[in-house]
This record gives sequence, structure tokens and C-alpha cells, in this order.
Amino acid sequence: MALEEFQAAPRVIQTIDALRLFVTQQRQLGKRLGLVPTMGALHAGHLSLVKKSNEECDVTIVTIFVNPTQFAPHEDLDKYPRTLTQDLKLLAELHVSAVFVPSVEQIYPEDFSTFVDPPSVALPMEGQSRPDHFRGVATVVLKLFNLAQADVAYFGQKDYQQCLVIQRMVKDLGLPIAIEICPIVREPDGLAMSSRNRYLSSEERTQALAISRAIEGARQMVDAGEVDCSRLQCMMRSVMEQAGITRIEYACVAHPETLSQLDAIEDAAIALIAAHVGKTRLIDNCVLK
Ligand code: AMP
Repeated sequence: MALEEFQAAPRVIQTIDALRLFVTQQRQLGKRLGLVPTMGALHAGHLSLVKKSNEECDVTIVTIFVNPTQFAPHEDLDKYPRTLTQDLKLLAELHVSAVFVPSVEQIYPEDFSTFVDPPSVALPMEGQSRPDHFRGVATVVLKLFNLAQADVAYFGQKDYQQCLVIQRMVKDLGLPIAIEICPIVREPDGLAMSSRNRYLSSEERTQALAISRAIEGARQMVDAGEVDCSRLQCMMRSVMEQAGITRIEYACVAHPETLSQLDAIEDAAIALIAAHVGKTRLIDNCVLK
């Protein structure tokens, strides 16, 4: 490894004690800390959060942890892509200071039994499809917030409902951290970037494009004056069905703060989709107004 590369390599922190030490040192130096929680298999969407943190903070801590408590037993925990070497290379290129890569035992020691009961915005949509998902997310995110003591944490709008859950948790529990939501990064053809896209065969990849087409179609209809949400929902479903996507978990138009489903768009709305393409579950969304 060339010396410059070696110098740019982020510090890999594997234990809570080592993370605490690093954070204490940085805070003593008066550094502003940014936190980017991820499950790894990094792509340009994740990196956009890292770049934002680099712009706004002195020190960026990226966490890579495939959190078992947010997966249901039938989900893809075991086969979730793990690409640590490549992830560290990408983070080195962005001069990330520290990467926290804890083991499951570090985060969930024996007899771990304290969980966050997530706010009510966790209940619809993803909450219907994945009942314990946000309990796991909120628990791990709260733990990471406590450990990293960052000033700001960066999340992607790609996981829109997750953003609402975390913002609500931060408000309800008075957590001393600012939350920044970054826009969805898409492939040139529109597909929202996701670590799970690598599961898709080339045929499925083409099919999956119907999800972003449906979302974009809804946005265009609303721009053209459509306010009837059932027409928007029908259009989104039919775009996906025509492409051969049959397992649509939801394709709906909702209020962007409460996620309650709307009949008609008044002042604000968001379109959200979750659908299966082959064995891969994908989500996407777009603020309509
Ligand atoms: P994950 O590794 O999937 O848990 O994602 C970690 C963070 O990256 C979350 O805040 C996601 O919302 C965000 N993220 C994932 N995909 C994208 C994307 N395409 N654009 C922007 N942010 C994203």
C-alpha cells in the first residue's frame, strides 16, 4: 500500500471503549462531529451523506453495522451484502476520520433486553410490512447516538419513514443531536440506489425501473394539477404491474409528516412505494408537494 493511501485510511474502531476514547479526544479538541449510520455495502447514496457531513463537520464517523434486530427471521440478514474492504477504500477516498464497525456482541451483549418502543409514525407502511423493523432501527440508532455523541447525524430520504421515526424519537426523548435528511441518490436511469440492488438480475434490474417511473409519474401528474390520490395510486400500481411487478406491498400517497393516507392532495403529500422484484424488496418515494 502506498504511503499516501495508508495515511488516508480511516481509523477502524471495533469496540465501544475505543469509540468512546476517540469521541472524548475529538470533543476535547473542540471538534464538531458528524455521524453517518449505515449497514455497509456502500454506494453513492451513502457517500452523499458522508460528503455532507465532511462539509459541515470537522470529523465524520461512519458506522457499518448490519443490525440483526431490524430484520425479521425470514428476511435477508444472512445474505445482506458485506463488502468491508471496498467500503473502507471508498471512505478513505473521502478522508473519513473513523469508521465504527462493531460486532453484534458489542452492540447486543448477552442479556441485552432494552428496546425503544418507536413512535406512532412507525406503524403504517413499513410498519405493516415489517412489524418489528423500526423497533430495531430506533434501538440501534439511539445506541449509536449515545456512543458517538455527534453534533449532527445524516440520514437519507430514501428511507423516508425511518427519517420520520428518528426525528420523532430525537424530539420525544430530547436527544442532543441535529438530524439532517439528504436527498435520494439515483442511478442515471432513475433507480434509487440501494445496497439491495446488487441482488437484482439484469432482467429484474429493468423491471425495478418501473418503481421510480411510477413515483416520477405521480410527481408529473401532481405537477399537472392532479389532486385525486386514488388516481395517483392506480397509476403507480399499473405502471409497476405492466412491468411485471406483482408483489406490491404499498403504493400510496400520504401526508409527509404523519404518513396518514390522503384522499386528495391539499398542501403537502408524498408518494411511497414498497414492492418485490423477484426476491428483492425495494422502496422508493418522492415528495409530491
Ligand atoms: P443503509 O445502509 O441502507 O441502512 O443506509 C444507510 C443510510 O444511507 C440511511 O440513512 C439511508 O437512508 C441512506 N441511503 C441509502 N440509500 C440512499 C440513496 N439512494 N440516497 C441517499 N441516501 C441513501
